[in-house]
Amino acid sequence: MPNQDELADVVICGAGVLGLSVAHTLLAERPNMRVAIVAREMPGLDDYSQNWASPWAACNWFSYSNKPTTVRWETISFERFWDMIPEGIVMATPTTMCWSAAGVAEQIWYQDVVRNYEVLEGDAIPAGYKYGVKYTTITLQPRLYLQKLKNGLEKRGVTFVRRYLPSIAYATAYGKKDAIIVNCTGLGSMSLGGVEDTSMFPIRGQTITVHAPHIKESICDIVDGGGDATYCVPRPDGTCIIGGTFQFSNWQQGLDTDTGFAIFDRASRMIPALLSPETKIVSHNVALRPARMGGMRVEVERVEYPLEGPQEVLPDFELEADVPVEALEEGKVPSKSFTVVHAYGMGPAGYSCSWGIAEDVVKLILSS
Ligand SMILES: Cc1cc2nc3c(=O)[nH]c(=O)nc-3n(C[C@H](O)[C@H](O)[C@H](O)COP(=O)(O)OP(=O)(O)OC[C@H]3O[C@@H](n4cnc5c(N)ncnc54)[C@H](O)[C@@H]3O)c2cc1C
Repeated sequence: MPNQDELADVVICGAGVLGLSVAHTLLAERPNMRVAIVAREMPGLDDYSQNWASPWAACNWFSYSNKPTTVRWETISFERFWDMIPEGIVMATPTTMCWSAAGVAEQIWYQDVVRNYEVLEGDAIPAGYKYGVKYTTITLQPRLYLQKLKNGLEKRGVTFVRRYLPSIAYATAYGKKDAIIVNCTGLGSMSLGGVEDTSMFPIRGQTITVHAPHIKESICDIVDGGGDATYCVPRPDGTCIIGGTFQFSNWQQGLDTDTGFAIFDRASRMIPALLSPETKIVSHNVALRPARMGGMRVEVERVEYPLEGPQEVLPDFELEADVPVEALEEGKVPSKSFTVVHAYGMGPAGYSCSWGIAEDVVKLILSS
């Protein structure tokens, strides 16, 4: 039987930007809590797996919504990122945003959050667009950032377990009897037993990573209703992400070469510096943003175990160390209930909202 003192008070499922941000925020609030992070993909070990989103983000602070909750999350996150600039992993980046549809300007709420905000006039508006604004936001290199978050948590004693969880109930094996489980499994929440959220869907993003240290500014157009956008996001390591697609409910993880050519063509017309001989293509990328009909899920649920019907999966002998193996073989799994705090489904804005979401999740953990 495992020693209860060595088990976690909180078990976080998922080591993407949300799981890691929740762990940091929780330990800032309660430094003595024992935290375990259980995930199929881990920063540093699975950076090129397409089965999670976080390593593939562009990755800049950009607002996708003016809903009050998102505005709060994005504001908290922006300030947190801005404070990280001196650490070198986050970069202040001048950014131009342009569009042609009427009504977009009225939706911009973050003039006083980003720095140096100005409305562009006349020739300052990029060619082919009717409107534009310029401001300074932050960009980062997601793989380096995730690794930094993980390193910081390891120093604080967080246990990392790299494994697939067939159901949310499996996570309880890493926690004390009354441990709280946090579900940050992104698109995995669609198939994770006991969660099986059918309102999840992917937004396919095809992008190109280029080595282009001569590009220091970000540019992005705003398109309505998904499809294709044109953007270039320079990051602190001298690479830029150019993009890209927003293809709703498209699960294709293979590369579409025509789309790749089209992305480079559009981006280099908008940013001619991409055509410099200094620019080298590093990789073509395809990844899936974890989106949810109805928006991000941040809420508490009490789950009964064993799970019922098709949600139940065979118990895991290794995990059920306090249950005699014979009982498991006979299918007599002891019943119990546990608390899950869900935090998944942020689609294209997981980084932009990460620290704000983490604050709300920690409040739910501490009040459960
Ligand atoms: C091309 C692209 C560009 C983007 N650009 C930006 C941007 O500029 N700014 C921005 O804010 N956001 C951006 N995003 C979105 C952002 O990447 C996501 O919103 C964010 O990474 C989601 O993080 P997450 O932690 O919720 O999920 P994920 O990063 O997907 O992590 C999920 C975790 O759960 C684990 N997991 C899942 N199922 C299981 C299971 N059954 N058992 C065990 N572990 C499991 C995974 O292994 C992983 O560790 C972009 C995304 C893409 C694809």
